[in-house]
Amino acid sequence: MILASHIIVSGLVGSAAKNYFAAAFFGFTSHYILDTLPHWDYSIDDFSPESPSGLFKTKNAWRNIAKLATDVAGGIIVLLILLNRIYQNNIENIAPVFIGAVFGVLPDALQLLYWKTKTPYLKWLSDIHAFTHSIFNKTKKTALPGLAYQIITIALVFIALKFF
Ligand SMILES: [Zn+2]
Repeated sequence: MILASHIIVSGLVGSAAKNYFAAAFFGFTSHYILDTLPHWDYSIDDFSPESPSGLFKTKNAWRNIAKLATDVAGGIIVLLILLNRIYQNNIENIAPVFIGAVFGVLPDALQLLYWKTKTPYLKWLSDIHAFTHSIFNKTKKTALPGLAYQIITIALVFIALKFF
């Protein structure tokens, strides 16, 4: 899933968590659940397992940074808009949202760390990540249907929080 989808869903989940630990836990696990759904990702060649070990060393580095920044910023903006719709500006504590969102993107950061370092400490986590991607993602999705799943998932989480 693109980072925006993870930020939005894990931030929303965090907002509903009763404490910081729960926000972190549900944010983190939501990542793997989302990754099981059929989805589309854009590729960042700097981050692929095959790329040279340094980050942003390819000739597309600036384009990759711009892609990532747009993805993250877009996710934060949509998250804030949805939170505003759910809580009508009455959110008392933004910390669980922040914690949820950070833990929601953490698996991808750890994945990158694993690809770059190949540390055995992260291999099992990388295996879990690859497994979640393999469940319903048998075929490579093109952008439109692959994004549709992400939008539907976000919509369902939003509806669950707003109306239940
Ligand atoms: Zn992931």
